[in-house]
Amino acid sequence: MGNRTLAIIKPDAIKNGYTGLIYDRIIKAGFTILGARLLKMTKAQAEGFYAIHRGKPFYEELTTFMSSAPCMVLALEKEQAVSAWRETIGATNPADAAEGTIRKDFATSLGENAVHGSDSDENAIKEIAFFFSEAELIANE
Ligand code: ADP
Ligand code: MG
Repeated sequence: MGNRTLAIIKPDAIKNGYTGLIYDRIIKAGFTILGARLLKMTKAQAEGFYAIHRGKPFYEELTTFMSSAPCMVLALEKEQAVSAWRETIGATNPADAAEGTIRKDFATSLGENAVHGSDSDENAIKEIAFFFSEAELIANE
């Protein structure tokens, strides 16, 4: 199993002042931050990042939202990082998210759900490479 995942603190969470609280969850859940950057995606960048969802009814809304204001992108490391991070963030729809998860506590709505997490090791590698070169990531022994 891979040990890296991409996380994004989405525009709603940053606007609502939750960046620090979400960092706290990341650290308390035992992830090592290998890279982090604040950026405002262009619409084209958001469309490229979410290309897997092209054609779905929420694609336009999602890519408009993700390019509307700054995001924090993070490369996280932990054993079985993809599943560990998805457990930490909770279900896509905050109404279905378990108690104590980031989405339960900080999401605004189904579309504006505070954070992103990769869904597989294969996509984690692609998504980290979308935002970071290997040289930009902290090398851990
Ligand atoms: P996840 O982020 O949990 O992996 P998906 O990959 O299915 O969820 O969807 C990507 C993102 O698209 C979601 O996090 C959410 O912001 C948005 N989204 C998903 N489904 C919907 C929907 N039915 N309506 C509006 N936005 C949605
Ligand atoms: Mg997904």
